[in-house]
Amino acid sequence: EDFVIEDSDEDLQERPPVVTIMGHVDHGKTTLLDAIRHSRVVNSEAGGITQHIGAYQVEKDGKKITFIDTPGHAAFTEMRARGAKVTDLVIIVVAADDGVMPQTREAIDHAKAAECPIIVAINKMDKPTANPDRVMQELTEYNLIPEEWGGNTVFVKVSALKGEGIDECLDMINLAAEMEELKANPKRLASGTVVEAKLDKGRGTVATILVQNGTLRIGDAIVIGKTYGRVRAMANDINQEVKEAGPSTPVEIIGIHEVPLAGDPFMVFSDDKEARKIAEARESNVKREEQKTTKA
Ligand code: GDP
Repeated sequence: EDFVIEDSDEDLQERPPVVTIMGHVDHGKTTLLDAIRHSRVVNSEAGGITQHIGAYQVEKDGKKITFIDTPGHAAFTEMRARGAKVTDLVIIVVAADDGVMPQTREAIDHAKAAECPIIVAINKMDKPTANPDRVMQELTEYNLIPEEWGGNTVFVKVSALKGEGIDECLDMINLAAEMEELKANPKRLASGTVVEAKLDKGRGTVATILVQNGTLRIGDAIVIGKTYGRVRAMANDINQEVKEAGPSTPVEIIGIHEVPLAGDPFMVFSDDKEARKIAEARESNVKREEQKTTKA
């Protein structure tokens, strides 16, 4: 868009990595996401996890990690198809007793197309039939070669079910993130991407969004896709009200007029009128495009 402002180096600060877990059905994506969530919830004093939004954060060795909590490839591909790049790192889960399957290949292709670094989690290591060597062998075909075999792909062996290997998995994510030198500018107005959104009977439009740059605050005038509004309230991944959200933070917001789509970009403007003008311009652009396609 026309609003891209470059951040100067001195404003850039380290930000948490945003991680997506992909892999073949039943290889353990959901179980792994749950195991990670339960291992280290940020603000665990809040008394457990009261609400489940489409993304969450954990902390390991003082470093936060953001997980997009929508297993499967749909969210990832949908967001990518809409031009959004939200993921910094992809974890490919492969069941040690099953090996590389069609959706494993698909996941590798998606990650490579998005130029995301890959960490392989060999899951279900607790099973007597687990054969991690076979998984590693199969993955060499895709140029995912373990370090001990002279390659540069990180493999971790886990049992999501038993919660084993989770710490090491988080360590590997932190290491990989360090190499990526992920930065953002918390001082500017927020921008980012919609993770999911719905219409709630009582609260109106509720959207889980990922702040990718800047800091989002209550009261901000926001344009999301072709809708707009003002951030009336914000909650974090464990349903605590928050007043602001910095880079790589997922938050649930209310106050937008219509329901945006997963993958829609959002951007905060310094005043309401501008936000509204831009949203209306986008709306009429979309209408014009639609008319063109119906005429054609
Ligand atoms: P998804 O389809 O990739 O999200 O897979 P799920 O997380 O739903 O797991 C599929 C099945 O495998 C469930 O019955 C899980 O309990 C089981 N499972 C997941 N991880 C493990 C593991 O580490 N060990 C064992 N034995 N079973 C697991």
